[in-house]
Amino acid sequence: METYDLYVDGTWRPSESGERFDTVSPMSGETLARFPLGTPGDVDRAVRAARGALDDWRRVPAPRRGEILFEAARIMRRRKQKLGELVTREMGKVISEGLGDVQEAIDMMEYVAGEGRRMQGETVPSELTDKFCMTVREPVGVIGAITPWNFPTAIPCWKLAPALLGGNAILFKPSSLTPLCAARLVEIFEEAGVPSGVLNLVTGRGSVVGRAIVEHPGVTAISFTGGVSTGKTIYAGAAELLKPVHLELGGKNPLIVMDDAMLDLAIEGVMFGAFGTAGQRCTAASRLVLHEDIYDEAMEMLLEQVERMRIGDPLDPDVDMGPMASQGQLEKTLEYIDVGRDEGATLRYGGDRLRGERYDDGFFVQPSVFEAEQGMRITVEEIFGPVLSVIRARDFDDAIGKANDVDYGLSASIYTRDVTRAFRAIRRLEAGVVYVNAPTIGSEIQLPFGGVKNTGNGLREAGSAAIREFTETKTVFIDYSGQLQKAQIRES
Ligand code: NAP
Repeated sequence: METYDLYVDGTWRPSESGERFDTVSPMSGETLARFPLGTPGDVDRAVRAARGALDDWRRVPAPRRGEILFEAARIMRRRKQKLGELVTREMGKVISEGLGDVQEAIDMMEYVAGEGRRMQGETVPSELTDKFCMTVREPVGVIGAITPWNFPTAIPCWKLAPALLGGNAILFKPSSLTPLCAARLVEIFEEAGVPSGVLNLVTGRGSVVGRAIVEHPGVTAISFTGGVSTGKTIYAGAAELLKPVHLELGGKNPLIVMDDAMLDLAIEGVMFGAFGTAGQRCTAASRLVLHEDIYDEAMEMLLEQVERMRIGDPLDPDVDMGPMASQGQLEKTLEYIDVGRDEGATLRYGGDRLRGERYDDGFFVQPSVFEAEQGMRITVEEIFGPVLSVIRARDFDDAIGKANDVDYGLSASIYTRDVTRAFRAIRRLEAGVVYVNAPTIGSEIQLPFGGVKNTGNGLREAGSAAIREFTETKTVFIDYSGQLQKAQIRES
């Protein structure tokens, strides 16, 4: 079993606490590695290292910083199989998705690396003679990157890659459930040539290390992905210091199937959207809104496929769904199943923890399908597990109304062959990401990603937003007229 230290100022060093925690396989309970429980003092040391490295790093030309990211992507490609297996072993998603997690990280690094030769600003005409106006992009400073466990390689890369390209220094605090994936990533950046002090890894409790990062005056901005309640705590903590915060939070995503949809395609999409990553995706389809004319037929097709799902060792390529990521995730899922039963939803499949030799050491639960009324807790609260609520809709307007009837707004999908309905749905669905004839999951990194309502604070990651998140705009005026010229102040 490996024992890791914190990565601060280019060296792996123990935490001042001397205490450690284990990262374990959700499949077998096996301890995979031990990590330090960081302290506010460790955070302070990492901030000083980051501040010390910032000046030199920001002066490295952006295309050179991009080359380091290209090299990191190359290393990652070579190690993709091993990294994907690690995602699966540490977090529990099936191996095809573990590899997908790593591929998304590679895609992000390559996309952002190319931005090193663009990083566009604006040049616009001045209203005055012989005066030049432009904007340039500058680093924000020291970024606190706080990440969840469900995409333990991809989500850190959505933050670290553009932050590095932007010339920032970073304090990286990964989820305590997936520090090993984080450490492997940091090793890759180190090997690719990120200078000492620019990227620092501090593991430990969110309530200690995460909080210390948020409240440290030397950390300029926070980029956070995780749950709503943590997001609110971080937002409030950072407000005291007027610190910019980027929040990517939860979802309760609807998938609408209209009466004219290609049903086979739709049900295939529902299966992937609802049960991929055991429902532990911020974009998981947790509500299926079915038009009443195809309700019975669609329901039958769905249940037939759910019954056929293979659940087990996520490293086995024939398995469709692995374990939940942790004991806490398992318990939360089972609690919500009880809530659904108590509030009168009809459980059509699943509902129990899986038992038996194959399952006893892991956090396995059956995929579960409820027939529910929109408004029940299981239809409005994020479960983050393989629990699908099926909701009946009278017509298009009813379906859109039910889809929007939640506090979240990350992703939404509609299956229909009617182009008019499709475009109307695109306009009316309250979500940051909308899919037509595809499930609620499957974003691509070259497009902005994020949500409305309680899913965030109005910002986006990735795509054209990636560089904006991690750079400041500086507006520059250069007057080469040789005389004092006054904007807006005119003779007549
Ligand atoms: P979480 O409990 O909110 O934790 C996220 C991160 O915040 C972890 O690193 C955690 O550290 C840290 N943290 C906890 N308390 C903190 C505090 N007081 N101050 C600063 N940091 C703190 O979320 P999770 O369970 O890891 O992830 C699941 C959630 O993430 C779901 O709600 C899901 O929808 C959301 N998510 C959203 C997106 C998106 O892009 N919108 C993507 C993926 C996931 P510890 O692990 O040490 O507690």
